[in-house]
Amino acid sequence: MQIIRDVKSLPAALAGLSRDFGTIALVPTMGALHAGHMALVKEAKRHADAVVVSIFVNPTQFGPNEDLANYPRQEAADIALLEAEGVALAWIPDVASIYPDGFDTMIRVGALADRWDGAARPGHFDGVATVVTKLINRIGPKVALFGEKDWQQLAVIRRTVADLDMAVTIIGVPTERAEDGLALSSRNAYLSDAERAAAPVLHHAIQQAARAISDGAGVADALETARAAILSGGFKSIDYVALVDADSLEPLTRFAAPARMIAAARIGTTRLIDNIAVG
Ligand code: AMP
Repeated sequence: MQIIRDVKSLPAALAGLSRDFGTIALVPTMGALHAGHMALVKEAKRHADAVVVSIFVNPTQFGPNEDLANYPRQEAADIALLEAEGVALAWIPDVASIYPDGFDTMIRVGALADRWDGAARPGHFDGVATVVTKLINRIGPKVALFGEKDWQQLAVIRRTVADLDMAVTIIGVPTERAEDGLALSSRNAYLSDAERAAAPVLHHAIQQAARAISDGAGVADALETARAAILSGGFKSIDYVALVDADSLEPLTRFAAPARMIAAARIGTTRLIDNIAVG
C-alpha cells in the first residue's frame, strides 16, 4: 500500500494506479478506523479496481467548542487495517495541504444542511461539503463511498455532487453495529464503561418507535416514547429524535415512505447519532 502525505506526489501515484489497476474508488475518513470504515472499503472493491482511503480530521467541520483537538488519532493502527484490506493508496494529508495559506472558499449547502445536525452544529455541513469536494477533486474517483450511519451527511453529499455537476457516483453503505446494536463510531472511544453499556438504548429506542409507527401508532406518541426511553436509559440530553422523509429530511407527522428515523443525543460529554429505515 502506498502512503502519500502531500499533494504534489498524488497525480503521479494516481496515474500509476489507473494504469496498473483501472478505476478508482475513494473512501474519505477521519481515521480511528473501525469495522464501519472497513465495510466501506469492502464495498468499494466491488465498484472499482483500486481503493484509495483518505484520512483527514477536517477542522472546518468542527465547531469552536467541539472535539477537534481530542478527536481520536491512531494512524499506525489505521494503516495496518487498510493494508490488510488490500487498499492501494492511503492519502494522509496535513491541514496545510488541504487548507493552504489564503484558502478562502467554502461550499454552502441550503435547507438540507440547516436542519437536524446542521442546526445543532452550525457550519458543520459546509465543512463536510467543502472537504469532500476537495478530496474528490484531488483523487478523481469513479465512485466515492459514505456510511448510512451519517444519513444527513450522505444526503448533503449527494446534493453537493448533483448541484455542482461532479462526475462521481456516490454510494451509501449500511451501518455496521456492535452486537448490542450500538452503531460503530470513532467517538465511541470517548465512552466510559458505564456509558458504553447504556449507549445502545439510542438504537433500541428508535427501533421500537420505528416498529410502532410501521404498525400504525401515531408518530408524535412514538417519538415521545423514544425520547423518554433514551433519557431514562442514561442519556443526558437529546438534540433530536424525528421521523423524516429519507431524501429531503423534512419532518413527517405521519408515516409516508421512504421514511427514516433519525436521532442525536448526548451521553456524558459524548454526542452520538443514529438512524434507521422505517417501514
Ligand atoms: P468518519 O471517519 O467518522 O468521518 O467516517 C468516515 C466514513 O465512514 C463516513 O462515510 C461514515 O458515514 C462512515 N462510517 C462511520 N461509521 C460507520 C458505521 N458504523 N457503519 C458504516 N459506515 C460508517
